[in-house]
Amino acid sequence: MNTHQLIKTDREHIWHPYTSMLEPLPVYAVERAEACSIYLKDGRELTDGMSSWWAAIHGYNHPVLNAAAEKQLKQVSHIMFGGLTHEPAVELTQKLLDITPPSLQKVFYCDSGSVAVEVAMKMALQYWIAGGQRDKSKFATIRSGYHGDTWNAMSVCDPETGMHHIFNKALPVHYFAAQPQCRFGNDDVQADLDSMREILEQHHQDIAAVIVEPIVQGAGGMWFYSALYLQELKSMCEHYQVLLIADEIATGFGRTGKLFACEHAGIEPDIMCLGKAITGGYMSFSATLTSTAVAEIISKGQPGVFMHGPTFMGNPLACAVANASIDLLLQSDWQTKVKHIESQLRQGLSACKQLPDVKDVRCLGAIGVVELHEAVDMAVVQKRFVEQGVWVRPFGRNVYLMPPFIITDEEIEKLCKAVYVVVKEEGER
Ligand code: PMP
Repeated sequence: MNTHQLIKTDREHIWHPYTSMLEPLPVYAVERAEACSIYLKDGRELTDGMSSWWAAIHGYNHPVLNAAAEKQLKQVSHIMFGGLTHEPAVELTQKLLDITPPSLQKVFYCDSGSVAVEVAMKMALQYWIAGGQRDKSKFATIRSGYHGDTWNAMSVCDPETGMHHIFNKALPVHYFAAQPQCRFGNDDVQADLDSMREILEQHHQDIAAVIVEPIVQGAGGMWFYSALYLQELKSMCEHYQVLLIADEIATGFGRTGKLFACEHAGIEPDIMCLGKAITGGYMSFSATLTSTAVAEIISKGQPGVFMHGPTFMGNPLACAVANASIDLLLQSDWQTKVKHIESQLRQGLSACKQLPDVKDVRCLGAIGVVELHEAVDMAVVQKRFVEQGVWVRPFGRNVYLMPPFIITDEEIEKLCKAVYVVVKEEGER
């Protein structure tokens, strides 16, 4: 297919994420991708600064992940999980149990991050229903969060600034505490905790669980908050008898410098959602983990089973690639690599602090954020990044980098320079 035809059909008929069908933003046709490079059909090569939204931690077209997929394809790519099981799922379970907090012992495999969040919320509800506390049917969260695009996931995204505010009238109404202002690395959290404490104090009889993105709030604002806040939140949840759901879909598998962001606070949530990088970004897949206590109470109550079971649950192909991806990660010196990326990003993005349009520059693990005072003009900025030979896709006021862990120093330098150039131009426009 020639590129012109491809783009024309795409523009006329295909919906892209958060895009108008009348005035879609331009899209760029990809021929292939390899390591940290995306090759466009028009011959251009772009250095990847996005890991395809937190997912492709090992880069693209990785021979080990390819081999795992090929091997599994020849055995069985998919088989129903009702009444059947297979080695890739069992092996993956063992690996996840080894690396996640020890109290998480029961694993539910689902097909995307949003569904993992739906499953987590349903688990929390069923837990309280089974325990005879049906009134505990609400959720509490912190503002500026993002948990996905499905119905209940949307209901715990920020109700005003989040992208789902237009659905507010149709969504279940939950409790929103103020966003913690205390930054990661600081401990001055007492004032931040008041808002959530007040909610839990007044409404804990109605609340099934608190759901948060641990440490890093992603799509809701790329904000890194204090580990002590998370620690205190866990204690408050215990005190008020409310479950804690950690949405590690974006933060999991090393991105923040720990394998899971909860480790920064030394806490174990009651339920944890994993996704994105679980397959090294190869395919959509996710897992919701919980404790034996939660799983047993759900199973003892009516109807005696957990009420969820997607068609592609436990997909063997995804499990096989996930196994290979976790092995690759654990066999690499990922801690040193992520630390190095962090210091490179810190150094490379520091020049942006001098730009008048820039409000804040922050880095944590393999995440670098340049926050502007105003939202960027996406169409203009995206085009300029491509012209700089990089793939960086800002949203709102945040221009951010979260490259694959295999990125080279030269490639990070190129990404940071491009961010500086494009942000500077944006201010001058
Ligand atoms: N939770 C968080 C923290 C996320 O960042 C995302 C994806 N951006 C999701 C949930 C939803 O995942 P998915 O897009 O795979 O449904």
